[in-house]
Amino acid sequence: MKPVLPLFVFIDACGWEIIKDDPFARVFAPSRKRLDSVFGYSSACVPSILSGRWPEEHRNWCYFVHDPKNSPFKSVRPLRWLPAAVTSRRMFRRWLAKLVKVHLNFRGYFDLYNIPFQHITLFDFTEKKSPLKPGGMNRGPNIFDFLEERNIRYHVSAPEKSEADNLTALVEDIETESIDFAFLYWAGLDGLLHMVGNQSPAVPAKLRRYEHWLEKLLAAAKQHYSEIRLYLFSDHGMANCDELLDLKAKIEALDLRMGRDYVAVYDSTMARFWFLNDGARQLITQILQQVPQGRIVPDQELAEMRTLFADRYFGELIFLVKEGVLIVPSHMGERPIRGMHGYHPKDKHSYAALLTNQPDLPGEIGAIPDIFKLMTRDALLAKARNAERAEPSNRKLA
Ligand SMILES: [Zn+2]
Repeated sequence: MKPVLPLFVFIDACGWEIIKDDPFARVFAPSRKRLDSVFGYSSACVPSILSGRWPEEHRNWCYFVHDPKNSPFKSVRPLRWLPAAVTSRRMFRRWLAKLVKVHLNFRGYFDLYNIPFQHITLFDFTEKKSPLKPGGMNRGPNIFDFLEERNIRYHVSAPEKSEADNLTALVEDIETESIDFAFLYWAGLDGLLHMVGNQSPAVPAKLRRYEHWLEKLLAAAKQHYSEIRLYLFSDHGMANCDELLDLKAKIEALDLRMGRDYVAVYDSTMARFWFLNDGARQLITQILQQVPQGRIVPDQELAEMRTLFADRYFGELIFLVKEGVLIVPSHMGERPIRGMHGYHPKDKHSYAALLTNQPDLPGEIGAIPDIFKLMTRDALLAKARNAERAEPSNRKLA
């Protein structure tokens, strides 16, 4: 038996609105708190949790940026000659993304999504390393650097494995008592919510399944650790998409050319623009101001959300839609989906959640990057207390 195990369980998209009226995990994590999310997608939220810093600091924000000089995609460009009927197929693009990922030695999550091959050399991809590994941030350290520097042995999930396999792998490490810190990552709820939306009976059914798994995990942990400090948390919630917006068609109807006058990345809830001449800037700005489903986010607001980049690396103009609107087609997807996140962090369904068995949550824990403070605090505590037990002879001598 070891004294303490800090157990951090990250349930993607398990937002405050998802669990607010559900008894999810009340039995073993009765203390609940709503947390502010980070503006952006999982590409921004996950690194913020893992580093305790905000996008303007760690520079993991959106995946694709306009950066033709550094574009790694030159080898993919000949594919623009293939018919769209082939290259726009999800299966084909998934298969190709795997090839490209290996070829370019990307270590993080990678998807070509729906970026057209004719424009792909305009872009760089910003997550070449895995934020779930030491040295995985674009800038600065993350929790795994922190743990390695202090020789704290830990378990972390492998995102390419299934949820059940990640659970099994963690239970195995718990049974050998080889770890003093655990980070479990479950992504299944996020995928489900994107498909069925936040009102489907499949959502509470999934929460019951997680409870069942958590019971098994806690039962195993109690056999080997006297105290389990449990934290269940998410990165954001999920809004239903009830209105579709073809923003790309509005921009492409202008007498402008992508790559010559402007460059755009159409994410599913925002569009990011870079301008190659002033006329394009004026025209696109004017058109965007007439789109009632969204708005241009002012710099001051970007700064408040800590997503204002002085070098405009992620876009010179950020257009964000209202909660419930989905940009379709976008560079993220050709077809509509039922649920999406990545709206304004103050929109109802953006809020994340923290559920714990710890009664002493510090008041400063208010946003998802603050989870990092809990991780470092508990990792140091576990290291100290578990080391005391490991050296009983020293204590007797003293
Ligand atoms: Zn998602």
